[in-house]
Amino acid sequence: MSPVLRMFIVLSLVLFPALATPDPGSLRIGCQTLDATDSGARHSLMQYVCFYSAPPGEPAYDASEPGQLPEDLAWTPAHGRDLVFSATRSVYWVHLHIRNSGAHRSLWYLKLDYPLLDEITFWQTGHDTTESLVTGDQHPFSSRGIDYRYFLLPVTLDAGETHSITLRVHSSGALNVPLSLETPAEIIAGSNHLTLAHGLFYGALLVFAVFNLLLFFSSGTVYYFYNAFYMAALGLFLFAMGGFANQYFWSNSTDLANTSIPLSLSLCALAMTLFGRSFLDVSPGTTSETALKTQAWLCVGFLALTFVLPYSKTILLNTVLTLAVISSLFIIAAIRWKQGYQPALWYLLAWLVMLIGGLIYALAAFGYLTDFLAREALMQIAVGGQVILLNYAMVQRWRLLNEKLLAVEHNARTELEFKVHERTAQLRSTMRELEKANRKLSTLSLNDALTGLHNRRHLDTIFPELCAEARRTGHTLSLALVDADHFKRINDTWGHSFGDTCLQFIAEMLSRHVKRPRDIAIRFGGEEFALLLPGTDASGARNVCNALLADIANTPLTAPDGTEVRITLSAGIASLAAGENQDQLFERADEALYAAKTEGRNCALLSQATEA
Ligand code: GH3
Ligand code: MG
Ligand code: MG
Repeated sequence: MSPVLRMFIVLSLVLFPALATPDPGSLRIGCQTLDATDSGARHSLMQYVCFYSAPPGEPAYDASEPGQLPEDLAWTPAHGRDLVFSATRSVYWVHLHIRNSGAHRSLWYLKLDYPLLDEITFWQTGHDTTESLVTGDQHPFSSRGIDYRYFLLPVTLDAGETHSITLRVHSSGALNVPLSLETPAEIIAGSNHLTLAHGLFYGALLVFAVFNLLLFFSSGTVYYFYNAFYMAALGLFLFAMGGFANQYFWSNSTDLANTSIPLSLSLCALAMTLFGRSFLDVSPGTTSETALKTQAWLCVGFLALTFVLPYSKTILLNTVLTLAVISSLFIIAAIRWKQGYQPALWYLLAWLVMLIGGLIYALAAFGYLTDFLAREALMQIAVGGQVILLNYAMVQRWRLLNEKLLAVEHNARTELEFKVHERTAQLRSTMRELEKANRKLSTLSLNDALTGLHNRRHLDTIFPELCAEARRTGHTLSLALVDADHFKRINDTWGHSFGDTCLQFIAEMLSRHVKRPRDIAIRFGGEEFALLLPGTDASGARNVCNALLADIANTPLTAPDGTEVRITLSAGIASLAAGENQDQLFERADEALYAAKTEGRNCALLSQATEA
């Protein structure tokens, strides 16, 4: 057995002890007179009530006052049971005698605890007078005489006086005639307690609705608006059901007095659908979304129908619609929960409570729930519980969204950090490659491609630096300019390629003879070389050059045609003199080279100034 069904059965047992139409086959016995001063008798008022149900066509149906009733009308004693008639078209006549057995004239109120009756007429017959009161939803609220949501008939009895009271009740839809006889003090006390309870309930609902509306205005999140709308619709529906709406909102509109219930019911169904759709985050294009959309339009259609169709039809249609809406939202919420959408669980719980509320209402609407106050309290508890759960569900939803947002932010940050690391590593490796390429480039730019010796650019950089260092430290610095002799001839005789080979050979010889770590050999022109010898004086430089010249001259090369070729070199040497700059030193070395060429080549000469 499903939990809902079980709960339904338990509820039925608790709430419907006085269920069902009183037994029509009861004996025709006279209805006893109720002693109004006896509170025990007042509390069991229904023991003193007789009634008659007159279906259409009977004389009692058409009778418009007690005097027109047939003399031998078969009054049925209520036997203590409440008068509850589900969906009936009959006219009901209710009858009782009330007597004041006390010593003083006193006032009591006959209270009819059901605000939704269409038409009700009270007749009160005393010694010689008959007073009547015609009221009900078909009449303006002021017709009730006393400004109260229920019907109150004042019954004033002199000591020992008996009044005969007759009621004629007619209503579309379910019909309840819950009667009680109370003293003014009891009426006031009961009314006070109820007013406080209702004030708290409707106040809380209003606060929730306004709060959600404010949330909507400040955040722009539409489900807050729908929640506010839903609570307002629900509040309006209960307000109408409780008779308050008739009393305060449209006390003069007999049309709205009836239509307000199916109207607010379809509004509730619409609000539920809209709120459910946005709260459950139903994805566009899914079956659930299509169902909810259709449902929303259906609600609008039913809402419009309440203005066209009679109450008896619209109340039925809208009750069925609301139950269908509640059920469909329940199913969709369950689907969303299965899909892993966490807030749907709280929504489901809220809806379970609503389902119970809906059942209570439906039972009441069709006359199966007699105790109007208990029903009202139960519905208010169900609605209150649901509202709290729904608002809690919204907090959960908000928390989930927040968590999601934080997770997204965290992921984005982690990803960013990872990317930064990755890019930094890439950048570092690129930088390393760039550095390598730069080193290669600078080597290339400072070295001679043919011989691998340093080139003219390096000479231009290093030479002034070495001169400045020598001047600063006082160490010697010698420069030897070396030039191949008659090199043009070699090129002319054996070709340029062999000339290049010879230049490579000279470079190799130069490197071999320039041994000290700081010595530098440079090819600064076609067949012109320079030796920079820091820390070497002129004679040391001449020794180096002589050894070089001798080595070269004694090492023959084989030309392409097999000829043995001996290359000779001439060298001009100069050492840095005090107060001299690099240009002057170079010039002196060049002069010495020129002199060596003039002397007959294959020799190394010192500059005149260096010799001096
Ligand atoms: P001198 O003894 O007076 O120095 O006579 P020389 O022929 O060596 O002097 P000159 O300055 O007249 O000629 C230099 C020649 O060196 C010209 C050119 O053919 C040759 N030469 C210059 N650079 C290169 C080179 O890179 N490769 C080759 N194969 N020959 C070169
Ligand atoms: Mg030359
Ligand atoms: Mg030369």
